[in-house]
Amino acid sequence: MRPDVIVIGAGLAGCASAYHLASDHHVLVLEQGDNPGAEATAQNAGMVRRLGEDPAERALAMQTWRFLSDPGADWAGLTVSKKTGALLGLCHDRWHLHDAAMHLRAHGVRVESVDAAGAEELAPILSGTPVLQGWWLPDEHVADPHAIMTGYLRGLRRMGAEIRCGTRVSHLIVSEGVITGVQTDEGPVYADRVVLAAGAWSATLGQTAGVTRPLFPLRRTVFATEAHPLSTPTHPWCWLDDAGLYLRPEGDGFLVSGCDEALDPPRPSPGSQGSPSPAASALTLDKIKRLMPKLADLRLSSGWSGLRTFAADRCPMIGQDPDVSGLWWAAGLGGFGVTCNYGVGQALGAWMRDAPTPWLHTASVTPARHLLRKFPIRPQGELHRPRLLDARSVPVRKNLRKLT
Ligand SMILES: Cc1cc2nc3c(=O)[nH]c(=O)nc-3n(C[C@H](O)[C@H](O)[C@H](O)COP(=O)(O)OP(=O)(O)OC[C@H]3O[C@@H](n4cnc5c(N)ncnc54)[C@H](O)[C@@H]3O)c2cc1C
Repeated sequence: MRPDVIVIGAGLAGCASAYHLASDHHVLVLEQGDNPGAEATAQNAGMVRRLGEDPAERALAMQTWRFLSDPGADWAGLTVSKKTGALLGLCHDRWHLHDAAMHLRAHGVRVESVDAAGAEELAPILSGTPVLQGWWLPDEHVADPHAIMTGYLRGLRRMGAEIRCGTRVSHLIVSEGVITGVQTDEGPVYADRVVLAAGAWSATLGQTAGVTRPLFPLRRTVFATEAHPLSTPTHPWCWLDDAGLYLRPEGDGFLVSGCDEALDPPRPSPGSQGSPSPAASALTLDKIKRLMPKLADLRLSSGWSGLRTFAADRCPMIGQDPDVSGLWWAAGLGGFGVTCNYGVGQALGAWMRDAPTPWLHTASVTPARHLLRKFPIRPQGELHRPRLLDARSVPVRKNLRKLT
């Protein structure tokens, strides 16, 4: 049967989108990997962070938080997330995230301002940390992306959607500005609507339809640590936002990242996960020693790196592409795809039915919005030491153009 909608990519973005379309569309999800959710969706730290820099991100995060707090029947028996609370600390700029905190408060989210002593009381690992100001969010979660995916996949099967793994889309098929389907390794598949939810591969696929929507895959490293007495299941996750260091309890130790960012477009095949570089481990250990003296003896035990894919304004790309009829985007979920996935699916599902989303302004996430000419990335995770990339063209593996 000819699908109404093809979704390219079975990560959080693709599955959330398909989930919100499958009740009244015949949806086919095409995934190049052997299993759904094996790329960025399997590589993250699982923190659900509503206090983000961008208003659209916060709107999507608030929708997703509500879902995580009370997921539906498709998630029965699964623990999709647990409430841990979160402490966001600022070491350089006490006003950073101030407007974001006020926005969340206006929506009823509990956000409290704390000083260094207050931060230490709530989060003992911050004892001795040079925090100028902190934001305490007692209701923040840590999510299990695998459990979220399991519920989406259950729901998709229940609604009769088809998920075809091991099928790579090589290009989009467009005729006179209208999408008619996709070309796969196994032949063409035709549909009137195609959703690009291919994570780090989305921009390159978009180019095959003649549209240039630059998205930048930035590699980041996460480490697991050896056991530490300050790691307790009830300790909140902590993020020194402007300095670029986060930790959350995991087992007897922590998951930790020095928030490194390096442009790294993927090969045209599955397998974006990498090993930690010596530089990433040195950066993380140095930051722990300087910024979290209570953890100076912490040892890294293992780690991995993965791709967070951003538009130049770090805002997601969601919605219909105005230049190719029938092409839709659910991409650019950067470092907030766990935080925002359900909201992304809700928005896409609503807009494909011509329904409004009073909680999200379409223009702020449209793929055709005006984007910056240069993209400031944070190689060392520090907000005040950016490096500028040329943001006008889709980065490709063999031709990384850097402006510093
Ligand atoms: C190190 C790291 C830490 C992170 N920490 C957090 C966090 O704490 N909190 C948070 O909210 N977010 C976090 N994230 C971000 C989050 O993981 C991502 O935003 C999210 O997983 C993106 O989902 P996606 O579906 O867009 O991409 P992906 O999960 O990469 O899925 C895209 C899918 O498309 C498929 N695909 C690509 N090309 C093709 C093709 N041609 N044909 C068929 N299929 C194709 C891929 O195989 C893949 O399965 C982190 C990410 C990383 C890497």
